[in-house]
Amino acid sequence: MQCPFCGAQETRVTDSRLVAEGDQVRRRRQCGHCGERFTTYETAELIMPRVVKADGSRESFDAAKLRAGMLRSLEKRPVSSERIEGALERIRQRLRARGEREINARLIGEEVMAQLQRLDQVAYIRFASVYRRFQDLDEFRAEIDRLTREPATPSVDDSSEPDHEQH
Ligand SMILES: [Zn+2]
Repeated sequence: MQCPFCGAQETRVTDSRLVAEGDQVRRRRQCGHCGERFTTYETAELIMPRVVKADGSRESFDAAKLRAGMLRSLEKRPVSSERIEGALERIRQRLRARGEREINARLIGEEVMAQLQRLDQVAYIRFASVYRRFQDLDEFRAEIDRLTREPATPSVDDSSEPDHEQH
């Protein structure tokens, strides 16, 4: 980040925090050349890690694509937009919280499945069946059996669950 006072390239971050409900990051920076301090506001999208796809290629994190995938699975399901947006924000926060510059696309899929499992079992199965490309019917059936055995987890308050557990 270039210093707005002297134009030097070398500035360091002295403080960094999420603002505006996690959509923006406020950073305090100090110039290593002239010593001036300044503040930047960066959208959270800018600091999302880059995505490493299965073939090894990289792409920018695409929030719209993530939302579209979730909405497709949740089509005609009784889940409010508010809860969907909450789940999307949790996914972004969890991916950011890893502090990695790059993450595997597979990891995003796992996070989506974890959130869908809490939101709606049908949506979860829809997403998982596409995402995991179940190798054969037995595997798919086993997943459905597993889900029907397990009672749906109550999801009265999503925000009360710890968001820092690792998978
Ligand atoms: Zn400077």
